[in-house]
This record gives sequence, structure tokens and C-alpha cells, in this order.
Amino acid sequence: MNAVDMDIDYDASEESSFFCLPEELNCRLDQTINDNDIVKMSAAYQKCISYSWREFAELHLKISHGVVENIVADQEGRSLRIREMFRRWKESNPDGKTPNDLIEILDNARLVGIKQHWFSDYIPNKRALDKFIDDRVTEFGRKAELNFNPEQFTKFLYKLGVQDKEDFVKTRSPNNIFKQRLDILHIWENRVGFMEATLEKLNQCIEEVLVPNERGEPLRQLTNEESANRRPFMVRPTAGSRISVCQGCRQKFDHMHDRLVVAHWEEVTYKNREGLVVNEWTNGHYHLSMDCIRVKWQNFQGKLNAVKGVLFSKEKKFLRKKGFELEKLYG
Ligand SMILES: [Zn+2]
Repeated sequence: MNAVDMDIDYDASEESSFFCLPEELNCRLDQTINDNDIVKMSAAYQKCISYSWREFAELHLKISHGVVENIVADQEGRSLRIREMFRRWKESNPDGKTPNDLIEILDNARLVGIKQHWFSDYIPNKRALDKFIDDRVTEFGRKAELNFNPEQFTKFLYKLGVQDKEDFVKTRSPNNIFKQRLDILHIWENRVGFMEATLEKLNQCIEEVLVPNERGEPLRQLTNEESANRRPFMVRPTAGSRISVCQGCRQKFDHMHDRLVVAHWEEVTYKNREGLVVNEWTNGHYHLSMDCIRVKWQNFQGKLNAVKGVLFSKEKKFLRKKGFELEKLYG
């Protein structure tokens, strides 16, 4: 258990009552939303700090760029602008809009977190919720301070399923890595919702990328060695690559004959263009042979991963015949 796991005092039932569809909304899902609903929606939106409201207005509420610019010109401050955005959206239809319309929009925008926040605003006693939110904000701050290198961070985002937003947060705060990381955690929370975005899940993803040291100090980066030991052996086609020497038997690949090879991130030795021997941490390649891999990895048990779709069923059979086992396919 890491020091960062502590201080969470809420239980699951408490949590779920905050975030499920409240009775007050449930009985009027098809009725026009009122001004108070707009206020509550805006507050929920604002609390989920990471999403750009202008983008949301144009892309999801279908408010024109000109109107968005008008909102910016007419209103001071983010909260008033967000409220105005929802008000304009509501009035874009002469009959008004309904809670159902809003739910549909949030679902399409994959903003589960904001939807749950909004629902929770109809719960009379919100003190426990506020504490829950505060705890998360503190935790997210701690996580954003962790010592990821850029490669590990990208890997971490893949695990959370928010890698598509990496560039977005970088452009938003180009010089503030802490802010970028905090933002992406909130995007994650928004995307999967509070019920799914548990700190447990977050810690698990972190632990797959970073490891604690023995003294209970903050998580540190994996050494190259440790990282190599965790990396999967990937089976991949040779076609289109320039890989040349097997790291096991040191023979050259025959690209016509060796259609598939095994790649693994590790310390690789090769001769560079000047003929000098170089060591580098990168992908090493092996013949599709247990013997070749075991030259460097004596304990290799034959488990391979692959990217979905690169293997024909004939080749899967071929792998099994050679003593390998296909462990995992990546999307
Ligand atoms: Zn070989």
C-alpha cells in the first residue's frame, strides 16, 4: 500500500446515491428544463474543470461560432459564460429543451462525470459529496506530481484510455506539465464517470508504469532493467521494417523467409554505420524461435503478445507449433 492511498472515507453506497438519476429529474425527463436546471448544469460543468467550454458549445450544443464569440464578449468570467452557453442552447428551441436532451448530449460527448455531477446537484445533503470531490482533487494533485518520464506517461494514458487527449492538454498548458497531467486526470474522470474512475483503478495503472521504492518514498521511475523485465514479447511482421540482426543467434534476418519476428524492449547491442559496437535501450528483435530468445532471456516461457489483426489463423497455428502461446492481443 502506498502512502498516497490513504484518507478516503466514503463508502460505495454513499457514492452511488450521489451519482444516479435523482427522482426529481426522473419524473420530468420530457418536460422543459427551467432556469434552476441551467444553474445546476452550469455548476456541474464548471466543477469538471478540464473541458474547454467553447469546444463543447460548438461541437455538442451546436451553438455557432459567432454566438460563442458573443458570449465571450458579453459575459465576464468563466462561470457566467458557461451559464450563458446553456441558456442560449435552451433557447435555441422555441419549445425549450428537456433533461433528456441534456442527458443525450452529455452521453454523446462522453461526459459521464459532468452528468453525474449534475445529478448530484439534486441531492439535498451534499456535504459528503463535497468531501469526496475535495479528496479526489487532492489525490489527483499528488498523482500529477509523480515522476513519469514522457514515454511512461503516454503508456499510463493508454491504460486510462485518454491517450487521444494528450496533445489537447499539451496545447492548452504548453509550459506546465503539472497542469497538463492534472487536466488529463479530470478528463479521464469525466469520460468514465466517478463510479468507474476509482482511485484504486488509478493506482493500479500507475503501478503498472511506476514502482514504489522500499523506503515508502514517492513512486520512482522504473530502471531500464526493470522496465525491460515487464515488457511483453511482441510478435510482429518484418515487412516494411529495417531490422537486421537477431539479438539471440546474431544472424541476419531473411525478410523473405522470416515473415514474423519477436520484438522486445531491452538493451540492444549492434554495430553502427561507422562499424562501432553500440549499446542502446530500444526494441531488440529475435527469430521466431524459443532458442534465440532464451540466449538472452533464459526464463522466457513462450508467452507472446500481438497487435490485433497482424496474425492470420495459419500463423497462430505456426506459433503454437513452435512452442509459443499467444497471451494478449492489443486493440
Ligand atoms: Zn536468431
